Amino acid sequence: RIVYVNGDYLPETEAKVSIFDRGFLMADGVYEVTTVIDGKLIDFDGHFTRLERSLNELDIANPMDRDAWLDVHRELVAQNGIELGMVYLQVTRGAPGDRDFIFPDPETTTPTVVLFTQSNAALVESPKAKKGIKVVTIDDLRWGRRDIKTVQLLYPSMGKMMALKQGADDAWMVQDGAITEGTSNNAYIIKDGKIVTRALSNDILHGITRAAVLRFAREAQMQVEERNFTVEEAKSADEAFVTSASTFVMPVVAIDGADLGSGTPGPLATRLREIYLEESRKAAI
Ligand code: PMP
Repeated sequence: RIVYVNGDYLPETEAKVSIFDRGFLMADGVYEVTTVIDGKLIDFDGHFTRLERSLNELDIANPMDRDAWLDVHRELVAQNGIELGMVYLQVTRGAPGDRDFIFPDPETTTPTVVLFTQSNAALVESPKAKKGIKVVTIDDLRWGRRDIKTVQLLYPSMGKMMALKQGADDAWMVQDGAITEGTSNNAYIIKDGKIVTRALSNDILHGITRAAVLRFAREAQMQVEERNFTVEEAKSADEAFVTSASTFVMPVVAIDGADLGSGTPGPLATRLREIYLEESRKAAI
């Protein structure tokens, strides 16, 4: 596999990053994942805009403009022959000489940029999407700036393991009785035809797929309510689903062991997945 590191395209075995990199020592960095379908990028501009926002919030200079980012994405997709899969990008504050809590001077420390691709043949025709996934609820123990897409992913990773240990597929995190989001996706329930999802704030990641799916839902005359919903409300919903760049719209069929409706993917979630795939493929670049 060919990867990109600080301006160079290299075989992955030759790619190097300093052990003093603040991404490695302090999780001082941000990332994006852009999905590739038919060799094209889904919602590239959404991911670029969020990257700029995340970097801005952390006072890290964006090392490239939109077109340069797009070139690197396309070059990696081409060099690795990716038809179905994703491009991962990470920008960290870089590697100053010494470990220090104080941010290094941007004049002397440049951000580290790493990109790589992953192939996934089952991305669109996903067996999981046909069956739906089961989630369990766990406390949301993350920090208070979940709107910044940092590489600080330990708790979400632990949450996913807690879910797997209970025989489920993923966890939904709970704060003050209300669902925030999934470990790596935004969470939705549907009751009496109404789609409910938490409103945007510092409590959740502003999903690029969320924005697209809510737009498509409204265009299809579905009702959408952006507000908090409780665990109890979720368990008595007719349907539920999650969204992310890599899973699109993924039906949820059980919460904490209780089946939703018939325990199979619901009609609205299934329809939204179809619409999302059709529309985002058309708009891919
Ligand atoms: N929430 C969290 C916590 C996530 O990690 C992700 C995916 N990175 C999402 C939501 C979904 O965001 P997107 O649709 O932009 O992939």
